Amino acid sequence: DSGGVPGRVRVAVRLRPRNAEELAADADFADCVELQPELKRLKLRKNNWDTDTYEFDEVFTEFASQKRVYEVVAKPVVESVLEGYNGTVMAYGQTGTGKTYTLGKLGEEDTAARGIMVRAMEDILGDISLETDSLSVSYLQLYMETIQDLLDPSNDNISIVEDPKTGDVSLPGATLVEVRDQQSFLELLRLGEAHRFAANTKLNTESSRSHAILMVNVKRYVKEKDPALSMENGSNSHSAKNFKAPVIRKGKLVVVDLAGSERIDKSGSEGHTLEEAKSINLSLSALGKCINALAENSAHVPVRDSKLTRLLRDSFGGTARTSLVITIGPSPRHRGETMSTIMFGQRAM
Ligand code: ADP
Ligand code: MG
Repeated sequence: DSGGVPGRVRVAVRLRPRNAEELAADADFADCVELQPELKRLKLRKNNWDTDTYEFDEVFTEFASQKRVYEVVAKPVVESVLEGYNGTVMAYGQTGTGKTYTLGKLGEEDTAARGIMVRAMEDILGDISLETDSLSVSYLQLYMETIQDLLDPSNDNISIVEDPKTGDVSLPGATLVEVRDQQSFLELLRLGEAHRFAANTKLNTESSRSHAILMVNVKRYVKEKDPALSMENGSNSHSAKNFKAPVIRKGKLVVVDLAGSERIDKSGSEGHTLEEAKSINLSLSALGKCINALAENSAHVPVRDSKLTRLLRDSFGGTARTSLVITIGPSPRHRGETMSTIMFGQRAM
């Protein structure tokens, strides 16, 4: 168990409860998976008499609370961001399996239902000092290899700038909004969702065909006593020389609600839908390759293959922490998609 060790991806699987349609299905309906959370195992039914068993870092049943999912999946990443590292939390799975519920649920009526973005912001706001630290967010949609600003719809082609020396990634064209409290953050998320809906309506597409990316930048001013100087100077401990100038500690949290991983039916589709399918396959497979490279401790992580991986370049691998939740549904009708989601998760470990 990695416990969130940098450089390796932590992978959890989460099963969505049956929905109304699945509950109403006939009595023969048996879930295609069986979970053994205490063993961190998932069994996928192969046929009536045989199952395959997979292990994950964590296995969440349909009864797992949003709080527990946050604490296991995201909290270690948030804590390292507060210490000045970068980190990524991603959800991967078929449309309708709970990616947005897990990451983006606002839980305005029911705070117990709040998802990872809202809980992460609550922890960050609770830890930083609003007087001296800076906290800002960008909210983006990545669609067909184009980055759109969800906080400013007129801003629909943002470019990625990589610092060749440090490898730091920035989006100079993206709106950065300072966040002071949870209420204004919730408003930003709502605004972003509304802009996303409008943009996708205009493009005649669905939100499941694009990635939604929240970036949270934390900049802290930390006064650190320099241990080397204190030792040299001994008794002279009140000297200003004993203290370093305040250091700036920067951390970035990226939360990625990935496009639906399902195979898009290409038969009869033309133009834009086929292009969409290609583009989603490109970015998800590029992401898969990078995650596999991390899992194999490979020196070469092929980040250049897609915008998604270029954007995440400084937020996974190295000293960054990465958590992946794969979301699945219980229906045997989607067994094939569930299988391929499970394989994506397995390859990441
Ligand atoms: P996705 O973003 O993967 O397409 P959603 O998050 O929109 O899926 O979830 C599909 C539906 O299932 C939504 O109505 C959502 O509220 C519900 N849902 C998903 N996961 C859960 C869960 N763990 N508990 C309760 N409802 C869930
Ligand atoms: Mg969604």
